[in-house]
Amino acid sequence: MSITCKNLSHIYGEKTPFEYYALKNVNLDIQEGSFTAIIGQTGSGKSTFIQHINALLLPTDGQITIDKYTISSKEKPEKLKQLRKKSGLVFQFPEYQLFEETIEKDIIFGPMNFGTSEEEAKEIAKKVIKMVGLDETYLQKSPFDLSGGQKRRIAIAGILAMDPDILVLDEPTAGLDPQGIREMMDLFKSIHQLGKTVILVTHDMNHVLEYCNEVIVMNEGCVERKGKVKDVFKDSDYLLNLGIDLPLITNMIIVLNKKGFQLDTSINNIDDLVEALGGELYG
Ligand code: ADP
Ligand code: MG
Repeated sequence: MSITCKNLSHIYGEKTPFEYYALKNVNLDIQEGSFTAIIGQTGSGKSTFIQHINALLLPTDGQITIDKYTISSKEKPEKLKQLRKKSGLVFQFPEYQLFEETIEKDIIFGPMNFGTSEEEAKEIAKKVIKMVGLDETYLQKSPFDLSGGQKRRIAIAGILAMDPDILVLDEPTAGLDPQGIREMMDLFKSIHQLGKTVILVTHDMNHVLEYCNEVIVMNEGCVERKGKVKDVFKDSDYLLNLGIDLPLITNMIIVLNKKGFQLDTSINNIDDLVEALGGELYG
């Protein structure tokens, strides 16, 4: 399922004194099967944009096409239900949306809402709980007895239970401890490896460098740049000017290059950096 935006704009509070252009004429494609990062300062429009990917927000102007679903300001809601099944959105702090008394009930809610039988939905729950790294015994527990990271996994399992083709994640590691962050990122990597398109809003450029292949840079409601991670990250001055931190490795390379090395700034992992350093020192 690919995604195409044509002149997509979103205005909050249109025709009121609070009118605000949160997205301005966004044109882009997100390829099926990509692991795409969306980066940009707070307020740049990232959350507004991704809510269009499952039609939680509708365009004020222009359109967005997700597979065979084209959505414009006039789109009728009937078709949107099908789209929401295909395009799963995980909000920031999704654990706040858990509400059932058992984890199983929480997970089967979505599939049953789409007409899956209870029996079948329970089988799906067993499958997705394992996908998120928890075992079946959790299904009968209350979601409220779990740690923050585990609750978040349950919320993600609830989305995976719908078997979406696209998984959209809004700052999914915010507030987790370092181990929880790594486990969560590895979970998304494994979901991506299942062939799903993963779209990740994040402030962590190390994650972008390590996990993503494409990146979209947003600034003041516009898509400023889009491309392969290694190409966009080559222009470190550009990112710094936008107030975006550089990945740790890129920072190290810049420091080393100031000291006389001539390392390629597109190096994205420590092994390649060590090899390149070895080449310069001893090569
Ligand atoms: P980001 O996710 O990049 O931080 P958002 O998409 O949340 O940015 O917000 C973009 C801009 O739109 C911000 O200036 C924000 O204050 C504004 N905004 C977001 N949601 C609303 C809303 N529901 N009503 C009015 N303005 C909003
Ligand atoms: Mg946001």
